[in-house]
Amino acid sequence: MTKGRTIAIGDTKVVPGRRHRFDIPVARLPTGSMLGMPVAVLNGRGDGPTVWLSGAIHGDELNGVEIIREVLPRIDVRTLRGAIIATPVVNVFGFIDQSRYLPDGRDLNRFFPGSTRGSLASRLAKIFMTEVVAQSDLGIDLHTAAGHRTNIPQVRGDLDHPETLRLSNAFGAPFIIDARLRDGSLRMAATKRQVPVLLYEAGQINRFDTDAVQYGVEGVLRVLQAMEMGTWELPRIRRRPIRLDSTRWVRARRSGIAKLDVALGDQVVRGELLGTISDAFGQRPTRITAANSGYVIAITQHPLVSQGDALVHIGQVQGGGA
Ligand SMILES: [Zn+2]
Repeated sequence: MTKGRTIAIGDTKVVPGRRHRFDIPVARLPTGSMLGMPVAVLNGRGDGPTVWLSGAIHGDELNGVEIIREVLPRIDVRTLRGAIIATPVVNVFGFIDQSRYLPDGRDLNRFFPGSTRGSLASRLAKIFMTEVVAQSDLGIDLHTAAGHRTNIPQVRGDLDHPETLRLSNAFGAPFIIDARLRDGSLRMAATKRQVPVLLYEAGQINRFDTDAVQYGVEGVLRVLQAMEMGTWELPRIRRRPIRLDSTRWVRARRSGIAKLDVALGDQVVRGELLGTISDAFGQRPTRITAANSGYVIAITQHPLVSQGDALVHIGQVQGGGA
């Protein structure tokens, strides 16, 4: 059996035992400058699987960028078995715009697997599928909550798939969630090609969240360890991940100023008071109550709410009651 294999991305080849950082050309800016997606390939000397790490598919979700920045220095290609393809900034356009979207307002994570003749989002998705997903055995896709919301560190995946379940547990985040595939997402496109994806969701946009980053860095290394790609000195998992099989948002029944009395990770029971929505003088309060029992996995951080806004995301343990 040969030791390791060469990873080829575009015209760049990375042989076993080498670490190489380069750009995948994506598109020219209107000024004529070429915009590239930064990529690092860490090709281990030993045989093993290839894992991709992706951040900022939504350009304003920065925790994943920091997680990748902290993971890569801890990987030694002399002892690594297999290879890592790291793309900390997939949506380069949104990243420099500090936006979730591409310049035309499209959400990249609705355009996978993409095409060479479609919109910019579609072309970028296609490049990622061809250059990264096609030669990977597993993907770890790093996200945060959107807008004004924040997520407790959680791994979402297809938990009916035994290996995905094993690796989701190995990650060691507080929660694992059996999540449906979303049309056009990277996870769906990769899963269709038999490449499982762990979706890590933690923290909020435009910030580095200490907890989210720490759980993320340790989680990625724990997964690589569980795949026997290497060993790292890591703290013990604080608590075995809690499995949630369904999630549901509590939404604002009216517009106003919301004050929440719950925090991420809290356990709540159906009917429990989660906070109130009132007017500018604190009058005419409306109670916000839990529609089901479970754990608080995301909350809004913006007090100004319109009727229908998502306020508190509650995840339910299977058989945990309606
Ligand atoms: Zn995202």
